[in-house]
Amino acid sequence: MIHLKDIPINLSNHDFNFHEYKDEIECSACLEIEDYCENCSVFEWENILETIEWISRSLQENGWETMFIPAWLGGWDNSVRGLKDPLQEVNAENLRNLIFPYNTDITSKLTMSGLPDQFEILVSHHDRPMGEKIIVNKGNEMQEM
Ligand SMILES: [Zn+2]
Repeated sequence: MIHLKDIPINLSNHDFNFHEYKDEIECSACLEIEDYCENCSVFEWENILETIEWISRSLQENGWETMFIPAWLGGWDNSVRGLKDPLQEVNAENLRNLIFPYNTDITSKLTMSGLPDQFEILVSHHDRPMGEKIIVNKGNEMQEM
């Protein structure tokens, strides 16, 4: 799991790092508006979904069947957040719902250095620019609640 563990993974549902890659971009529509055009935004979003699928597959290949997500602190008021069912099957859809837990612009940073037992998702959004830290534990040994 070395490749997954060693680097933080930044994933955004709205900010596709246009300026970071500007020199490599050949699409004239993008360069004209100085941001990704609609077609390229769709392509970037698909890349992000593929990355999430890859993370999910990597976890599964390393024996993760379920993940346990304890309550965390979030929002502007530091209130307790949590899932109705903190024990979730490891799949791309559930992972995506953790990485982008709210219906708003989000940039999440995944730190996988706690693997094989756990990893962290730092979820930054308008109400909480410094991020909400969600800890994801390997849940195989946990009982259904
Ligand atoms: Zn474009």
